[in-house]
Amino acid sequence: MSAEFILRELSALDESGQFGEPLDIHVREGRIADMGKNLPLSDVLSIDCSGLWLMPGVFDCHAHPAMWCRDALETLRTPVTEWALAAADSLRRTLKGGITFLRDAGGADAGLRNALEKGYATGPRLQISIVLLSQTGGQMDGFLPGPGLELPVGYLLPDYPGRPPYRVDGVDEMRRAVREVIRAGADWVKLVAASAPHQEGQDFDRVEYTLEELQTAVFEAGRAGKPVMVDAKMPEAIEMCVRAGARSVEHGVFLDEERAALMATAGTWLVPTQYVYRDLQQKAEAGAFGPKTMAVLDNFHSRRGEVVRIARAHGVRMALGSDAFGHEMHGNNLRELLYLHEMGMPVAEVLQTATVRGAELCGVEDRYGRLAPGYVFDAIAFEEDPSDLRLFEHPDVVRMVFQGGEPRLPHPRLLDAGVPEEVPVGA
Ligand SMILES: [Zn+2]
Repeated sequence: MSAEFILRELSALDESGQFGEPLDIHVREGRIADMGKNLPLSDVLSIDCSGLWLMPGVFDCHAHPAMWCRDALETLRTPVTEWALAAADSLRRTLKGGITFLRDAGGADAGLRNALEKGYATGPRLQISIVLLSQTGGQMDGFLPGPGLELPVGYLLPDYPGRPPYRVDGVDEMRRAVREVIRAGADWVKLVAASAPHQEGQDFDRVEYTLEELQTAVFEAGRAGKPVMVDAKMPEAIEMCVRAGARSVEHGVFLDEERAALMATAGTWLVPTQYVYRDLQQKAEAGAFGPKTMAVLDNFHSRRGEVVRIARAHGVRMALGSDAFGHEMHGNNLRELLYLHEMGMPVAEVLQTATVRGAELCGVEDRYGRLAPGYVFDAIAFEEDPSDLRLFEHPDVVRMVFQGGEPRLPHPRLLDAGVPEEVPVGA
């Protein structure tokens, strides 16, 4: 697309999380040059977008595009090249689903991030954590007791040359593992301090990792300027994350008042993933899990809404995360907006949580996450008012996606204006 254009008469999301009166947006060299009503006519390509709603591209701050397969045996049978291309397919669908920036919560490696930057494939801008560091016997330990085999991370990722270790115990191993993860190109260091509900036989409420192990990870990552994100559900695990200095707590299902106050004081972020639990609940109801997992999910279900209510009451900073993994979830990440709202978050706050707050968590709020002059033009558009969040229950509601001023999903109005359907990708 031309380096300069004006989209006219869009309802655009403003700083307060509301869609204002229609205005024009002038984009030059990938950034917003100007915004306002009736920008003067000029030689610049001008496209009528009246009737469209525009918002910044959404930040999914917890997703696993490289975990596209939930079947352990299928993962083990898949050649690593096929795995990588399937991950690229997840990334493409995620971008077309409205996510222009994604913080990988484990699975995506530097190769996927670099391939997107080089334009070999399309996808959200990626920050990666590569592996999920987990203790022996913890959530991501793929040990098979029958044959006594050590297997890849929770069976969801393949082994490949250069992949850092994921099963880590003790302070010394932690120091080395964090260094190896950073050496492999990670933007974040990801740890698991709690088991997952869908793994039959594991105690979901067990606290994994000691405070010393977590502190070592945060210290070592910090020396390289990298933040730490930790999966934690129980209050005790959340407290350890805060005391260790993690930048974000993931899930936080059983957050209580006391720990919410701790998080707010320390400035620790919360990413309360809800889509994944709804998805697991649906699968459980369809008979996918055993009785123990059902009981755990029922327990989670009973807490729905509490984590967001408590976090809001204490002023804990929150960003959006779908925890998308598996074929069906990738591309439907925006459902998380509706679920945050259903948990008691007002619409305007949901829209900010999905955009500007995500940019803050990822440390890129100076150039992404807002529709404002000077900001990179990563934006998505709808033909219906997205402040009715029920829209996000439906597929294909995102009708236009821009990344750095390039249309990754061009609206028919753009095609009518002569923008080619096949848009070359590239940095
Ligand atoms: Zn996750």
